[in-house]
Amino acid sequence: MKTPVPDYLDEVLDSLRDDTGGANADYIPELAEADPERFGMALTTTLGRTYAAGDADTEFSIQSISKPFAYAAAIIDRGLDHVLEFVGVEPSGEAFNELSLEGDTHRPKNPMINAGAITTHSLLVGAGASQGDRVDRALTFFSRLAGRDLRVDERVCASELGSAHRNLAIAYMLRTYGIIDEDVPSIVEGYTRQCSILVSVRDLSVMAATLATGGIQPVTGERLMDPGVARHVMAVMAAAGMYDAAGDWLTRVGIPAKSGVAGGIVGVLPDRAGVGTFSPRLDSHGNSRRGRLVFERLSRDMGLHLFASD
Ligand code: GLU
Repeated sequence: MKTPVPDYLDEVLDSLRDDTGGANADYIPELAEADPERFGMALTTTLGRTYAAGDADTEFSIQSISKPFAYAAAIIDRGLDHVLEFVGVEPSGEAFNELSLEGDTHRPKNPMINAGAITTHSLLVGAGASQGDRVDRALTFFSRLAGRDLRVDERVCASELGSAHRNLAIAYMLRTYGIIDEDVPSIVEGYTRQCSILVSVRDLSVMAATLATGGIQPVTGERLMDPGVARHVMAVMAAAGMYDAAGDWLTRVGIPAKSGVAGGIVGVLPDRAGVGTFSPRLDSHGNSRRGRLVFERLSRDMGLHLFASD
């Protein structure tokens, strides 16, 4: 590519800035009030170099983008076979908060929908862990992935907990089938806290680049997971990361990704880079609209589609 990367990223954002389609998530009051004009992106290479544009240091709650990283932590803590006993890896093709479980095993279909992510959260650390232990595990692991100390946004967390009826319903159903066996409100509170960790697109790009290297944080050089864990997590992201638009995303963009309702999207280019975008207005599938358009441009301009042969 002839244009220097920073100029290219600025140009991509400028070309999409006027797009005001979609709307902020409104089921969490704090997210409804977020500034919808915020727009930023960052790309970190597997050699640890970060390029950023727009609102690259604005913090927002990680929300569902926490799911693949908490899943990696649960696999590290409990082993893949143990985690697979409780959460499947099949795309559900359903919305993030669907109350769906596999017919025979009653496992949530995958860790990217809430049922699977609540279960994943409950598996963190080990049997008998407290809510504080699990949240601390997520916070510490995400901080090492990002390379700086992250924190929970208590306002966002309280705002979501005030209307977490659906996640409580999902968790009580999981409890009924013995998929989770701890105190349901405490698990949902811990999961909500995990979703309320604040990140910037810069953080997300470094976290994703750690998956892209096969588990080595490219800035600190620390190995945070085995290559097999990173591969497994990226594969599940490709299959189920984008809610009920996962198939459309995989064919059109072709980059394993995960979105969150605060407006973030993280994408992984195996062996090449991690990308983070942020724009709060969501499309009808709950994915950041301008974020999706950024990824479509990157995929097209830079030939980043996983299945591109040219
Ligand atoms: N905390 C949110 C929830 O569980 C995350 C949703 C999302 O980002 O998709 O409802």
